[in-house]
Amino acid sequence: MDRREKALDVDRRLARAFGSRLPRDRRDMTDELIHGVLSQNTSRNNYDLAYRRLRERFPSVEEIAAAPVMDVEKAIRPGGMSRQKSVAIKAILAEIHRERGGYSLDFLEGSSVGEAREFLTSLPGVGPKTASVVLMFAGGRKVLPVDTHVLRTTKRIGLIGDRTTAGKAQEELEELIPPAKRPRMHLNLVYLGREICRARGPRHEVCPLRPICGYCRDPGGRDRQ
Ligand code: SF4
Repeated sequence: MDRREKALDVDRRLARAFGSRLPRDRRDMTDELIHGVLSQNTSRNNYDLAYRRLRERFPSVEEIAAAPVMDVEKAIRPGGMSRQKSVAIKAILAEIHRERGGYSLDFLEGSSVGEAREFLTSLPGVGPKTASVVLMFAGGRKVLPVDTHVLRTTKRIGLIGDRTTAGKAQEELEELIPPAKRPRMHLNLVYLGREICRARGPRHEVCPLRPICGYCRDPGGRDRQ
């Protein structure tokens, strides 16, 4: 089976096991970008709480942009690294305003995925993963963001090489997965990585990919425990 066939097989098996997950309701793109910054290096509960508190304190993006950085930091404290994240959020908003004269990213809807990625990754501290998350969840684009779960699971399964970087992985996986299947594949791989193919103690015995996964068999073809 070549890598493209294997990728499609992975998608089918995951969809059969976990269902055809769809992205949650779309957020505004600038809100999604702020949410992306808050999600770095912390758990989902923490960053969801930080995001809720930020929006309770500052209902509009304009208010976040106008607020002293210390007030933003205080609002997002439950998310961890609040100093760095508050500075990053303020810098991103300042740059969007400098470039566009406002805070809306709606203009990206008229851009190609490549152009939109280029603009987003030109913002301070915004990498390929955050850009793709914004485009998929808020922009409704058919991309495949590569977070820590997607990177680890696709290496183990054997869809990408062991040393592939996240940026390169995104390119390679988007080559393998047709656009219409990318959001579902992303969501199912994240679920797989969180619940089954964990960084430590992967649960091979309950994994729907066990029959085709390279990692759970040693070179002699025996199952790993
Ligand atoms: S079989 Fe094991 S290593 Fe392979 S994807 Fe499943 S849990 Fe991960």
